[in-house]
Amino acid sequence: MYENIPDKVTNIIVTGKSGAGKQPRIDVLVEEFDLEQLSTGNIFRSYLGKFNDHGYSGDIGQFWQEDQFVPDEEIAKELKTQDPDVILGMKAKYFVDRGLFVPDFITNELFRAYFSRKNYRDQVLDGYPRTLDQAEFLMKLLEEEDSRVDFILWVDNDDEMIVERTVNRRICPDCGKVYHLVYKPPRDGKCEVCDVEVVQRSDDTEEKIRSRLGEFKEKVIPAMKYLEEQGIPIARVPGHLEDFTPENVRKSVLSSVNKIF
Ligand SMILES: [Zn+2]
Repeated sequence: MYENIPDKVTNIIVTGKSGAGKQPRIDVLVEEFDLEQLSTGNIFRSYLGKFNDHGYSGDIGQFWQEDQFVPDEEIAKELKTQDPDVILGMKAKYFVDRGLFVPDFITNELFRAYFSRKNYRDQVLDGYPRTLDQAEFLMKLLEEEDSRVDFILWVDNDDEMIVERTVNRRICPDCGKVYHLVYKPPRDGKCEVCDVEVVQRSDDTEEKIRSRLGEFKEKVIPAMKYLEEQGIPIARVPGHLEDFTPENVRKSVLSSVNKIF
């Protein structure tokens, strides 16, 4: 039925606006091609965790001078560690703690370190690359490591639908169960499992959603265009399905992938 799809792929990128519905599609790809999901969020959490576990109580602000980090040897000496992961964790934490946008060179460094542990293979990249600089870094890395990205799966969704879906989203603070004020309202405003009041995530305000949508247009789309020019095909799937069943999600993903091969 999907006779064009290769049995084995090396890596896949999944992209789409925040709130477009990437996760169900990632689940299909992970299962179908026997891959792992590599999310930028998890990469950051992993390195921040390594730094926190190391237990340094000094001020990490001292490592950032004149718009760059001091040499790694100096950081290693002060942190009393030779573990590169701890140093990377400190670098990520510097920006995260200050609520600053993490510069590409740090994201790239974290990504490379994490991707290398996976031997640069068998991953569904989720949340990377998100800028042209990151896309160029990725292409260079793949070439150096004799690896590849077979295709990009782009989950398409309409801005207004995403806004509507996201501002009405409520989450149980205990179990993480997701509700929607219109389509799946919590009874009496409480989680049906935990009986605690559901909450709105601080990221789910209209202002923040629109800012993420703007960032997608300005940064992510040029990155994807560049990758396409480099010969990586893009398979587009609709984020909104009238009948949103696991079987329909799977069909939608596989038929669009089938078309690009
Ligand atoms: Zn709950």
